[in-house]
Amino acid sequence: MSLLDKFSVARELRTGLANGGLDPTAVVFDAINSATEGVVQGRKTILAGTNNYLGLTFDPDCVAAGVTALESQGSGTTGSRMANGSYAGHLALEQELADFFGCPEALVFSTGYAANLGVLTALLEVGDVVLLDSDAHASLYDGCRMSGADVFRFRHNDVISLERRLARLEARAGRCLIVTEGLYSVLGDCAPLLEIVALKERFGCCLLVDEAHSLGVYGDRGCGVAEEQGVLDKVDFTVGTFSKSLGAMGGFCVSPHEELRLIRYVSRPFIFTASPSPSVVATTREALRQLRSRPKLRSSLWSNARRLYNGLKEIGFELGPEVSPVVAVRIQDKVKALASWNHLLKAGVYVNLMLPPATPGGASFLRCSLSAAHSTDQIETIIKVFSELPR
Ligand code: PMP
Repeated sequence: MSLLDKFSVARELRTGLANGGLDPTAVVFDAINSATEGVVQGRKTILAGTNNYLGLTFDPDCVAAGVTALESQGSGTTGSRMANGSYAGHLALEQELADFFGCPEALVFSTGYAANLGVLTALLEVGDVVLLDSDAHASLYDGCRMSGADVFRFRHNDVISLERRLARLEARAGRCLIVTEGLYSVLGDCAPLLEIVALKERFGCCLLVDEAHSLGVYGDRGCGVAEEQGVLDKVDFTVGTFSKSLGAMGGFCVSPHEELRLIRYVSRPFIFTASPSPSVVATTREALRQLRSRPKLRSSLWSNARRLYNGLKEIGFELGPEVSPVVAVRIQDKVKALASWNHLLKAGVYVNLMLPPATPGGASFLRCSLSAAHSTDQIETIIKVFSELPR
């Protein structure tokens, strides 16, 4: 038995994926023409699996802000903020995020993944307890696990299951953090935050919500699902990413608790990695400005989401439980899912293939995500290509 033997499992998995045609984990876009169109193997392809919810990746003002920062401040910060200092843009972005969420302070990380590791490992330690939604993203699992706290899962979006777990904690409830997402990224369903907030108040614990997929998508101002459900000011820690609706890179945490300001002194994923580069910060700031000032982006996104969801439903596909900008088409059989994914790609539609074990209920999904930038023609083409899948 050698150290490298364990890779035989990954090798087999990869070969299996490539057998059906193109390996979905190794797709190469030869060109990206716009927020919604790329070129794969010489074919123009509609991008329907990008999380580019507001379609801002090619927005001229966002691109110009990045170019200006690149030219005036250079290509990278070449170190962490603790060791090398902050750029004015880092502080400005934090202030703008804090204002947006109505919080005293925000903390910016280099990715959303780092934000989750950074906040969870700083907040939790051995002896603390986490109650984690079973469908939570890997970065939430990893952060909880790394913290050394006792981690218990509750059934996805099931407040009865959560309540049962909370009741069992008794005196430990005061040292408990509930961890959920806003919009869940695979099935496209929202957390019942109103009920979860009521439970966290009853049991006297804290709540962290990852709004990675809901920022710019839900709520009057676009703050996310907690805003949509009227409980934004009750969430103890909101985390999120700049890599989806803001079309950039990076992550953040906002909180009404003043201790957030101290997290930067103890959070290793904040301290020991390079800070976001000036162009990324400038692009993110401009995208946040657009998110706040162009509500039309959100309404276009929702109209596209409704059309795709209803169109796929009408032709008989089994979808996630509610209309949202994530439309997950359930395919029972893994082999069939892979064949369908290849079929879509050959017909010029790129979606995400989601296979077990990383999926809810062990099912396979063709996951679409909508963008405000999709045209009506593109949405109709996606529906048509789905309707031609062998069933
Ligand atoms: N949280 C959730 C719910 C996510 O879906 C993702 C990315 N898929 C992340 C965090 C990580 O974000 P990033 O890509 O910025 O690291």
